Amino acid sequence: MKRGIRYIGDPILRQKAKPVESITDEIKTLAADMLETMEATNGIGLAAPQIGVSLRLFVLAIVEETEEGRIKLEQTRVYINPIIESVSKEQVKMNEGCLSIPGLYVDQVLRPEKITVRYTDLEGVEHVETVESWHARVILHENDHLNGVLFIDRLTPSQKKEIEFDLKKIKKKFSKKNPL
Ligand code: ZN
Repeated sequence: MKRGIRYIGDPILRQKAKPVESITDEIKTLAADMLETMEATNGIGLAAPQIGVSLRLFVLAIVEETEEGRIKLEQTRVYINPIIESVSKEQVKMNEGCLSIPGLYVDQVLRPEKITVRYTDLEGVEHVETVESWHARVILHENDHLNGVLFIDRLTPSQKKEIEFDLKKIKKKFSKKNPL
């Protein structure tokens, strides 16, 4: 079932999410709903707080970079209780957006290029993965959501200034769409 997206201004987006204690049927349904919601909103990543559930899990679509841009592959992944174990010193700039801040895209957002993440999948199997480029970017972005951090917090002071006006408009328009 597709669930409603929480938008900037909703306090749940600023909370630190709680660990998933065990992988129950409820968690499996939640993950399936998150994948469906991500698909329906054309996102490449979605964290549980973005649909109003303050738990430490997120989903993502595997993206391939081509000369024409980015292509979403059929493959999706569920990350439960993720821990970012290490990040590379090298940082890269990429453009970023967020389903909870509709219409705002910022070029040249700086983040580590390569990361190692430890997580549990829906079958309860633990994985340690080292990924780079877009895959690393999406994981860092979604993992931030579990800590109440939004990508706009990662911008430089001048980038923040540049988006100030648009952000105000988005907040005004979308915060009303959050459930009370
Ligand atoms: Zn986001």
